Amino acid sequence: MRALVFTAPGVVEMLDVAEPTPGADEIIVTVEATGICGSELHGIRDTAFRKPPLVMGHEFVGLTEDGTRVAVNPLTSCGECDSCRRGQTNLCRKRQLLGVHRPGGFSERVAVPKKQVVALPEAIAWEAASLIEPLANAVHAWGLVASERPLNVGIIGAGTIGLVCVLVAAGASVERLVVADIAGERLAAATRLGATETAARLDGEFDVIFDCVGAEATHADSISHLRPGGTAVWLGLLSADAPFDARDVVRMEKIVRGSFAYTNDEFRTAVDLAPEVDLGWTDSFPLEQGALIFSELVGGRTDIHKAVLRP
Ligand SMILES: [Zn+2]
Ligand SMILES: [Zn+2]
Repeated sequence: MRALVFTAPGVVEMLDVAEPTPGADEIIVTVEATGICGSELHGIRDTAFRKPPLVMGHEFVGLTEDGTRVAVNPLTSCGECDSCRRGQTNLCRKRQLLGVHRPGGFSERVAVPKKQVVALPEAIAWEAASLIEPLANAVHAWGLVASERPLNVGIIGAGTIGLVCVLVAAGASVERLVVADIAGERLAAATRLGATETAARLDGEFDVIFDCVGAEATHADSISHLRPGGTAVWLGLLSADAPFDARDVVRMEKIVRGSFAYTNDEFRTAVDLAPEVDLGWTDSFPLEQGALIFSELVGGRTDIHKAVLRP
């Protein structure tokens, strides 16, 4: 079968690969759509986390052998460790990601553990359904601060994760939802999806700020623009470094929280939520064009809000 394979630093290419063989309690999913994640665009620069040769792709949907339309939760958990027993399956001590630790969705077919598939609502299109995985990230991030009832929310970065955070925050009836990004096309999309204001950079104070970039500057901005006692939620993974004013964190009791992926329950919540929000902003391309699209996105193309590959 055909697959888009990460073969060396900076290189993805279409290759003929062996058909997947399902292990015990696994099934074959015929892939219909797989989103390209920002973490993959950055991830192919080195081999520290994703090890070539690898079929990446963790945002995918498709058909099981009995014809059921499913979303695949790509984050596996053991169900037995202390994190899993607390319900924090996203923090499982043995967690693995399809498309990182084992083959993912940039191929015609993929073997997945049976417990990772969730049936899709009938009405949803394949391309929109491929956004369920990013949407689940936003469901989780919002869940970390929902009890604070934030009314004045900032979002840094209007890529895919920023945009799904806009959808979830807008659905929670916040009063002010400001989205910052340096790309005008992305800000226009944020406005369509529910942002009340947009800017190149955040200004003023917010109850909660979601940093969906994770650069050094955005780490610092996400803290400096909090109100006293406010919370920064970090989803972006661009940089390991975070220069910020630690005294400001102490004196103003600011909170910084990491947000990684989603629990199994939150993934199901995202599947249920998907038909009720606007996920119609993908651009789809044949899988065969995957290498070209990867290189354009790595090169900085910003007119695509979400590239989805279809085998
Ligand atoms: Zn991702
Ligand atoms: Zn576990």
